[in-house]
Amino acid sequence: MIIGQRKPIDEIMGILEENKKILVLGCGTCVTVCSAGGEKEVGILSSALRMKSQIENVEITFDENTIERQCEKEFVDAIKKEIEDHDAVLSMACGVGVQTIADMFPHKMILPALNTTFMGMPKEQGIWVENCRACGNCRLHLTGGICPVTRCSKNLLNGPCGGTTSEGKCEVDKDIDCGWYLVYYRLKEQDKLSIFEEIQPPNDWRAAGHKGPRKIIREDLVIEREGDA
Ligand code: SF4
Ligand code: SF4
Repeated sequence: MIIGQRKPIDEIMGILEENKKILVLGCGTCVTVCSAGGEKEVGILSSALRMKSQIENVEITFDENTIERQCEKEFVDAIKKEIEDHDAVLSMACGVGVQTIADMFPHKMILPALNTTFMGMPKEQGIWVENCRACGNCRLHLTGGICPVTRCSKNLLNGPCGGTTSEGKCEVDKDIDCGWYLVYYRLKEQDKLSIFEEIQPPNDWRAAGHKGPRKIIREDLVIEREGDA
């Protein structure tokens, strides 16, 4: 899922600028699960902003709502009138959610309350770790289900750099596990170390977004509308 973190209150107050009627809008999917932008966080942020604006003697109102997903236009469409009735939307979704609404309401200010941080999984209660960078060429079948692009600090694809510590930590940061150390022992456990010996060709990083925004077109799902070329 997508992991986000709320921006500091002072920063959020700053980006509200001169807008006087704000809709604080949560998203009921990823950011709800990671406790960054769901209904509960919308309530907490709205209360904090009301208090802050009272203390600073700023006249501004904060209304609250949370929809199922901000990254799908059908859900946003259902609150179209509410969005139009406000000066700005303070979105607690990830960057995709913010941009979906901005795309639908180009005349309206859609402001981000979160920093979208990474794609990851919950490791323990209250701890999330990054484990995929959407490189566009998944190789988890070669690495025992451990992503080298994410877990190796240098994104190496053919084994460790030689700087792994004897405790299996990364030379870039001794607090993190060396990804290739983990891959090695996972493959060993699976009796698949022969995979580890296969040399992987240089990666084509264009699939990872290094040549601009990526796009997928599924012709079998596209609906041609009247007037389309
Ligand atoms: S190899 Fe690429 S697609 Fe697969 S988990 Fe790693 S970053 Fe994600
Ligand atoms: S020590 Fe391990 S994780 Fe760190 S850069 Fe080298 S191979 Fe990658």
